[in-house]
Amino acid sequence: MPDFEPGSVWVAGAGPGDPGLLSLLALHGIQNADVIVYDALVGDDILEFAAGNAELEYAGKRGGKPSPKQNDITDRLVALARAGKRVLRLKGGDPFVFGRGAEECLRLAKENIIFRIVPGITAGIGGLAYAGIPTTTRGTNSAVTFITGHNANGEVPDDINWQALADGSPALIFFMGMAHIGQISEQLIKAGRLATEPVAIICKATMPNQQVLISNLQNCAGDVLASDLIPPALIVVGEIVNFHEQLDWITSE
Ligand code: SAH
Repeated sequence: MPDFEPGSVWVAGAGPGDPGLLSLLALHGIQNADVIVYDALVGDDILEFAAGNAELEYAGKRGGKPSPKQNDITDRLVALARAGKRVLRLKGGDPFVFGRGAEECLRLAKENIIFRIVPGITAGIGGLAYAGIPTTTRGTNSAVTFITGHNANGEVPDDINWQALADGSPALIFFMGMAHIGQISEQLIKAGRLATEPVAIICKATMPNQQVLISNLQNCAGDVLASDLIPPALIVVGEIVNFHEQLDWITSE
């Protein structure tokens, strides 16, 4: 394993939740860090691998309070590295998939701080696998799109080209979309996707309390309202969802 040098920052992905999905490099980083600056989606069962004397700093949303500003987090990473710490910046999933990892690395690069990027398994792929949904199969889709359902203001981004998505991507995977599932499904139907097209909502994917709801475009918003689903959640749209019925290995374990 590479040396985790004092004064350097590792920007690492912790995967979607199950500690078994950590990479060896991420685990090495967790075990050797002096300080771990972690996000809301990183669970305690992963932080347990930290050294006894490591400092754990939470950098996510807590109890309805707004999350710390991105600039403050980056300032903190810079200050800790300058103080000679081995700094692990630990994020859910992959740090470069809707994770602002690039923003943080750009700043570290600008400040001439040594950093390493440790990719993680994104919920957008690993989370689907834990619901028995393949991201691609030869028979269903030769393309897949990751979309954020949420911009900096908490709204559905207005630069999403719904027509292009509906026409060009047979499989759609929405991150941070739960609050806007009504708007998302409506836009897709308006752009020509079948109202009966299968939809899966995967909540707390890969965690012991994972929940999967199977629905379709016209019913999914109502089904979510009537359910007890708790975010974080992915919304998966497309024929790939049909594999869940046969490949749902969690419930058949
Ligand atoms: N970097 C992360 C994504 C961060 S954005 C990654 O690569 O997975 C946060 C969103 O990710 C959540 O709103 C949700 O849509 C999704 N997400 C992350 N972990 C998840 C999980 N365990 N189960 C379901 N969705 C998850």
